[in-house]
Amino acid sequence: MKLVIDERRCKGCNLCTLVCPYKIFRPGSKANRKGTIVPELDRPERCANCRLQKLYGRTLCGTCQMICPDQAISWEEEEAYEPQKVAIEY
Ligand code: SF4
Ligand code: SF4
Repeated sequence: MKLVIDERRCKGCNLCTLVCPYKIFRPGSKANRKGTIVPELDRPERCANCRLQKLYGRTLCGTCQMICPDQAISWEEEEAYEPQKVAIEY
């Protein structure tokens, strides 16, 4: 699972940066084409180990998603690893 912010929905309120127990969100540094400063993600793979897991009974605590007023936060399935043939030349 990969955490993503939908830039078309985000309005840059930074509520997500306040609630995440792992500080996975941090205030963004530059505005996008709409003029919104979308938060940046700091090693979002840490999200899967959220310590609030037990409280909510699921792998992801989801606090950021619940607090986001614009439903801009979601998780995408990551593509499964596909082995590829590698040609070795001698
Ligand atoms: S689900 Fe929890 S740990 Fe993961 S990014 Fe959101 S607030 Fe942070
Ligand atoms: S809470 Fe939602 S709208 Fe606010 S900055 Fe985070 S992703 Fe954007």
